[in-house]
Amino acid sequence: MSNKPSVLFASSEVYPFVKTGGLADVSYGLPRALIDNCDVHVVLPLYRSIDREKFAIVSLNQGYIINMGGTEYFTDIYGCYYEGIEYRFIYTKILCERDSLYGDNESAYVDNAERFGIFSYAIVEMLLAGNYNIVHLNDWQTALVALLLKEKEILNIKSIFTIHNLAYQGIFDKSSLENLGIEESCFTMQKIEFYNQVSFMKAGIAYGDKITTVSNNYAKEILTKEFGCGLDGFLNYHKEKLVGIVNGIDEQHYKRERSKKKAKKTYLKSVGFKGVKKPLFIFIGRFTWQKGLDLLIESLDDIALLDCNIAIVGEGEEKYHKALKEISDRHRNINLYFGYDESLSLHMYEATDFLLMPSIFEPCGLNQLIAMNCGAIPIVHDTGGLHDTVCDYKDINNLKKRGIGIVFREQNSMNLYKSIKEAIMIYNNKIDYKKIAKLNRDCDFSWSRSAKRYIELYKTFIDTKH
Ligand code: ADP
Repeated sequence: MSNKPSVLFASSEVYPFVKTGGLADVSYGLPRALIDNCDVHVVLPLYRSIDREKFAIVSLNQGYIINMGGTEYFTDIYGCYYEGIEYRFIYTKILCERDSLYGDNESAYVDNAERFGIFSYAIVEMLLAGNYNIVHLNDWQTALVALLLKEKEILNIKSIFTIHNLAYQGIFDKSSLENLGIEESCFTMQKIEFYNQVSFMKAGIAYGDKITTVSNNYAKEILTKEFGCGLDGFLNYHKEKLVGIVNGIDEQHYKRERSKKKAKKTYLKSVGFKGVKKPLFIFIGRFTWQKGLDLLIESLDDIALLDCNIAIVGEGEEKYHKALKEISDRHRNINLYFGYDESLSLHMYEATDFLLMPSIFEPCGLNQLIAMNCGAIPIVHDTGGLHDTVCDYKDINNLKKRGIGIVFREQNSMNLYKSIKEAIMIYNNKIDYKKIAKLNRDCDFSWSRSAKRYIELYKTFIDTKH
């Protein structure tokens, strides 16, 4: 066996083909950072929304029929080569022919167990047909692969299971067991049973040869009741396999030629804001409880009365849309955009002075890394990966490979408001502001350090004799 690991990196979303959140960014950036030290292919579903022509995605004429739980699914493999990486796409009708990836509005598709079950079976077929030593699985959508490999006794392929967010577990009715062709003997507390339901997340944790999560601090947090989402006991049982490796960003992707001043001026003009000299605060993200929306909404009227501009972009739960709309209608210095817009978000990171990230929990968080890389200062709750990547400006002499922001410890709206007032004070002291912005811009948020740790992990598999 060669010493260079051969890895199949499996993810349910990969930028720029399809993206709903940070997982797509990681699945884009990490393989690119690994490619010098391992052979890596990335596999994802060929959803209807993916532009086959633009990315020159073609059939590899490797169609086959998969029998899952007594039903036959015709599966076709497609491929393309994009920016130095080989991509593989799995096409199966029930997986790919949908308007969205996981569900409509606020409810998940009812057959997600079968959809991502078939995705997992197809990945196993690819592993058997290829020369891979390792499969790197990401989140519940690919977690069944770990189970299938062990249950089918394909022991020469090792699996790494990465948890990007423990809150999304892929929990399904017990009846899906039969549709998935999984033996009843796997339906135990030690394996995939979770309160009489089937848990894909548990399959990844129980059967993965290694488990990683996306920051050191989150790796510790998920072992506690507060952050364990009901799996803290189970994770504690498997903690010898668990490591935290912080995410990076593809810095090249965010490189901008314009100065912040210029970018800010253009952005403010585009949304009809006055006052280039006022600090600009942005929030970008999914409108969910996790991202601290309640806190933001509670304090937004007060924040808007300060001498600043605020821009909020995102989509999600209806109640948050409604509340944000009501508040922004009262203030001329709040700009609200509902929707998902990659180029708008890049423009905002480039233009902004501050980023608001009051998340209740945050496995790693990418927004703060992107913002700091663009010379902005994040205002964050001290949790998960935010703790590992952002150092409070008052501890500027104790950076430890982190960027600088304003960090509040206790999660309440008063603390968010106070932090924003501190931000305005820093902003008005141009010397401090410029110093922090420069330190952030110069900080290394690239994937290189973390990619090394993944390579070390991969190598532990191929160096040991099985
Ligand atoms: P998540 O929990 O959503 O995965 P992350 O911080 O890990 O959060 O990653 C979020 C990614 O999605 C970032 O690249 C962020 O800029 C992007 N993003 C989130 N919401 C939007 C939006 N409405 N429009 C454009 N980009 C967005």
